Amino acid sequence: MMFKCSKNRMEDKIKTFAQYGATGNGGITRYALSPEANQARGEFVKRMEAIGAIIETDDLANMYATLEGTEPGLKRIVMGSHVDSVKNGGNYDGILGVMTGMEVLETIAENNIPHRHPITVMIWTNEEGSLYPPALMVSGVVCNDVLPADIAGKYKMEDMLKSKSVLDKTKTFKDALDASPYKGEKKNRLNPDDYMAMFELHVEQGPILEDAKNDIGVVTCVLGMFNYRIRFFGQADHAGTTPMHKRQDALYAAAKGLCYLHEEIDKLGRPELVYTTGEIVCHPCVHTVIPDMIDFSIDVRHEDPEVRQKVLDIVKSLDGKEIERCRCEVELAWARDTVYFDEELVGFVKDSADELGISNQYINSGAGHDAQFASYMMPTTMIFVPSKDGHSHCEPEYTSVEQCTAGASVMLNAVLKTDKK
Ligand SMILES: [Zn+2]
Repeated sequence: MMFKCSKNRMEDKIKTFAQYGATGNGGITRYALSPEANQARGEFVKRMEAIGAIIETDDLANMYATLEGTEPGLKRIVMGSHVDSVKNGGNYDGILGVMTGMEVLETIAENNIPHRHPITVMIWTNEEGSLYPPALMVSGVVCNDVLPADIAGKYKMEDMLKSKSVLDKTKTFKDALDASPYKGEKKNRLNPDDYMAMFELHVEQGPILEDAKNDIGVVTCVLGMFNYRIRFFGQADHAGTTPMHKRQDALYAAAKGLCYLHEEIDKLGRPELVYTTGEIVCHPCVHTVIPDMIDFSIDVRHEDPEVRQKVLDIVKSLDGKEIERCRCEVELAWARDTVYFDEELVGFVKDSADELGISNQYINSGAGHDAQFASYMMPTTMIFVPSKDGHSHCEPEYTSVEQCTAGASVMLNAVLKTDKK
């Protein structure tokens, strides 16, 4: 039997949560552990207590609302995402995964749908890392505490607690956590002993589902990626007195180097390959001085390690090269392999969408999500819903209430299939 979630109740949640941190221009600014985030958390508690869910929090202020199952002692099934946002973000990134999880529990409670396992909806603290960097901070810490260091090693608890607010350098993540009314006990953290599976519904944040006119993305993996720093070294000289043919202009060299990368990478002919230079440092960055050093990033993402290796060969071919009399150095910043989601759970999502008659396709995630860290601890998967015009991390971010409800219904049925295992 297939169950469906309530469009009206979904719409009410979307409208209500959009108030907490509203910018007045259709979006929200809701930093982790801020008063606005606490308003959203309070709303979560109110609505979940109303259906008889048990509320718990852990030492990182992650929150859990649980409906007990019929068979005591079984592991929990969890649905979760985040309520924090980027500055001037939208009303769907993160919060939709929490709202659809709530909608699933509300539908189960309203219809007395029997389930053996406890079913939990979860709020992850500080996914965006907009106020306290880095992104994925708390799922990284939780993962790092139970797994080998090579998986989430950079997310050491003591280091993360020292993360400074980007708005007030005197304030740390630890200060915000200690002040949070939602800080609880470490024993309540998501862990592989108490949980059997995790689902995260999220907006796609890209145009693929909309272009294909599909309402559901059955996510199979989070793309592997690498991030390199590319530096060009020249000679600083006077902008007015140095003849052009004598210059060692690091910026001109870097521009040529970047064009070379684009030309060579595009020759691979892989339309699904994405690469970005989003950060550039210019030294000394003075309009009367020829730059003597340029440092830029390149972020490359593709599912297939062979394709990533081909791009890496191109990037590395710049190392030690001279362009316009400027020497180039390349250095690895960081890399991760493609994270594949649990095949059985992916199948439950696909079957649920098909059985509900909701248009769907397989898709991968180019962005990172808390689910990728959870997937190292337990079977995990994700469900995507379309982003209008592909927009995300901005105020026009939009997904129709019908598509949000369809996503909740798919998650509900996938959770119930998992419960029968
Ligand atoms: Zn998100």
